[in-house]
Amino acid sequence: MTILLATNNAHKVDELQSVLRRTLADLQIVRPADIGLALDVEEDAMTLEGNAYRKAIAFHHASGMACIADDTGLEVDALNGAPGVHSARFAGPEASYNENCELLLQKLEQIPDDNRRARFRTILCFVDSHRTEFAEGMCAGHILGEGRGTAGFGYDPLFVPDGYEHSFAEMSADQKNAISHRGRALQALAERFAEYRDPESAQSAKAHRALNNGSKAEHGQPIRRWLCEAAVLALRQNNEQLREFLDRYTREHHDVGQMYEALLQIYLFAGFPAALEALTTLRSVVNSEGQAWYAEDDEAYDLREFQRRGTETCQRIYTSVYTAMRERVSQLSSHLDTWMIIEGYGKVLSRPRLDIVSRELVSVAVLAYSGWERQLLSHLRGALNVGATADDCEMALDCAARHSSELGSLRARAVWQRLQVSTKNS
Ligand code: IMP
Repeated sequence: MTILLATNNAHKVDELQSVLRRTLADLQIVRPADIGLALDVEEDAMTLEGNAYRKAIAFHHASGMACIADDTGLEVDALNGAPGVHSARFAGPEASYNENCELLLQKLEQIPDDNRRARFRTILCFVDSHRTEFAEGMCAGHILGEGRGTAGFGYDPLFVPDGYEHSFAEMSADQKNAISHRGRALQALAERFAEYRDPESAQSAKAHRALNNGSKAEHGQPIRRWLCEAAVLALRQNNEQLREFLDRYTREHHDVGQMYEALLQIYLFAGFPAALEALTTLRSVVNSEGQAWYAEDDEAYDLREFQRRGTETCQRIYTSVYTAMRERVSQLSSHLDTWMIIEGYGKVLSRPRLDIVSRELVSVAVLAYSGWERQLLSHLRGALNVGATADDCEMALDCAARHSSELGSLRARAVWQRLQVSTKNS
């Protein structure tokens, strides 16, 4: 498999290459320059996730290749998390590494040694034509009173990681990579790729499962099961049960962003009250563990863009019956048809922070639990069309069945069996 590293920063290319090669020996890595691609992507999102996604998707669209992009911020506690997402432009739009370091030292001049805690945080975003994946890596430490060392780049001379006496700029590249934020994020991403090769290859189904379903298996259940089950619990209107469940989820260090997306999405099928209550519960769990609430990406309300990506996602889900489905809905209500594309598929289901397979499975679980059989059939088909396996669908149905009446779960199973029979016969 070949991956394009969506960055023009030579230091980062070296770091990314050395970690990726170690973990994925048979992977071929190319840089934009290797394929004659020069692309400058505006990094003006409000979050690291937003910037990483923008870079990855822009390079993917320009090259057609699988891409990895990263975005990193240095978060200093005494500055309330600044410079954070603005790390590159801290001292101004064209600021040099030196100018940024100078400004940071200046702002921390009066801050005593024991209050100079900081962390680097990296978000990696992988995009290919099938999926979007995020991985996070963090490295905690403190900021020195003056720079030390000449290796590395950026804020390296000012940052000493916890457990070490040397700054990043005084370490060898191998030492830094072994403990750095970027190294850790890559490690997390690489683990998901352990069995992943070419999505078009014969290994595809197995690899797909490994990438999307098995990634958290070492902690217990796969992440998609957590998302489906939480969505069903949110519909049950039992906040205590949901709280307990989310508490276990966050304690096992699962990604708050993906859970946030799954619970946000349920408003499409279960209405605003369900999503509001569920997100309120998630926030109180996250806060009670001393974590900051999930930093949302700033999403521009660009209706044309929602229409474009909504049409694309809807086509992927409905494939050959897309046109007939649109016609059926628009004959019923042209308003509903427009809202379905712009609001449903464009605004909500195409949001980048959660992949479309997980989203379809969450929808399956919610529809199975609430008993909308025709919608359930469409979304089971949709889940399979975007790459879910039969096991994934069974998992989503099982999440619903655990909380449904016997009759409800039998009905949902019957819908699934009908689909399997019709797929076998076609
Ligand atoms: P970027 O947007 O990911 O390029 O990162 C923003 C800024 O953070 C860069 O311009 C650097 O100043 C800084 N930065 C990113 N990664 C590192 C690192 O590994 N060490 C030191 N500074 C870094």
